[in-house]
Amino acid sequence: MFAPEITLWNNVQVSILAKKYAQMILDILFPNRCLGCNSIISADLLICELCFSQIDFIHSGYSDDNFIKEKCRLLFPVENTFALMQFGKENLSRKIIHELKYKSREIAGEILAQWTLERLDFGNQKPDLLVPVPLHPKKLKERGYNQLHLFTEKISEFYNIPFDHNLIRRNHYSKAQALKNRQRRLETENTFSITQTITGKNILLIDDVFTTGNTVASIAWEILKAGNNKINVLVMAMDA
Ligand SMILES: [Zn+2]
Repeated sequence: MFAPEITLWNNVQVSILAKKYAQMILDILFPNRCLGCNSIISADLLICELCFSQIDFIHSGYSDDNFIKEKCRLLFPVENTFALMQFGKENLSRKIIHELKYKSREIAGEILAQWTLERLDFGNQKPDLLVPVPLHPKKLKERGYNQLHLFTEKISEFYNIPFDHNLIRRNHYSKAQALKNRQRRLETENTFSITQTITGKNILLIDDVFTTGNTVASIAWEILKAGNNKINVLVMAMDA
């Protein structure tokens, strides 16, 4: 009478063991390697300790007058800003974000969140809502995940601040190559709309790389038009 349950339980155990051994074999055949120097590292890491010590972290506080705040101020009214790393051409930060966006290493978002939490102090300026820059639904389907979601959720969990992945919607979709004219591409990629009425909120916008600031500016204006809200910006890396 109990046989089916026992069989089921055995099957579960066999399946767990099989997965464990399969992972062990994969680790031996294809060990995880440091993105910087290619040395073998533990499966839950992106880079080795030596390469970590070479990451160009930005040491500027959330409420400081920093470069990114100056750039944002030219585009929209901003309260506080924070950028984790510099994003240089040959930089390790570029490789890490590339892994996160294009190599299905969603886990990189969690590691970047951990590095952020070790360096970010909101002080008495704690935001009350986290809003990551959205992907267009088609792009989300292609990639399988939004590279900012896990990152945002980790920040949310640590500081106990709610997040909203659906407050902002990206309106246009185009394969980057399809539009040759760069200006036209920037314009179409940067149109967003707000999905609900929101007011009286101190919002932290989250993006991966800050370059021109056009993306966060477009979203900021949608939120500012919607009500009496404040805008802050947090990015993984700053390309400047
Ligand atoms: Zn290394």
